[in-house]
Amino acid sequence: MIANRTFTMIKPDAVENGHIGGILDKITSAGFKIVAMKYTQLSTRDAEEFYAVHKERPFYGELVEFMSRGPIVAAILEKDNAVEDFRALIGATNPAEAAEGTIRKLYATSIGENAVHGSDSDENAAIEGAFHFAGREVF
Ligand code: ATP
Ligand code: MG
Repeated sequence: MIANRTFTMIKPDAVENGHIGGILDKITSAGFKIVAMKYTQLSTRDAEEFYAVHKERPFYGELVEFMSRGPIVAAILEKDNAVEDFRALIGATNPAEAAEGTIRKLYATSIGENAVHGSDSDENAAIEGAFHFAGREVF
């Protein structure tokens, strides 16, 4: 994946709460182009693998259970400076600390159930995009 792309998931809490449309509107209104997208559900193993970097953290079990409990929307987004700009659009991990107008401020309910994922580097964006999408699913 090239440097102007990032990877996102609309997490199970936001799907359950009916926020897919609202979140996609925030994303496209901010100038991100959707180059891949699917409605899917992570298995326990998928979630363990996706968040393996957090394996030693006390919240890992809770995180894996949460991320696999229902459907998600996974997408690859394109924009100049995609990774950094998307992290700014979603806001801080803890919605209580997220800036006004950010997706997490609007839609997240807690530090664990925080509505969206955004890649934290170009390298991870490429790894995470490839985790979810075959080359022919990316446009
Ligand atoms: P993400 O990687 O999902 O975009 P992030 O980069 O803002 O989120 P990370 O530190 O990578 O935050 O944590 C990954 C996810 O683990 C968080 O989004 C959240 O769902 C969960 N998490 C992080 N810290 C906690 C915590 N203290 N308690 C419960 N869950 C947490
Ligand atoms: Mg992260």
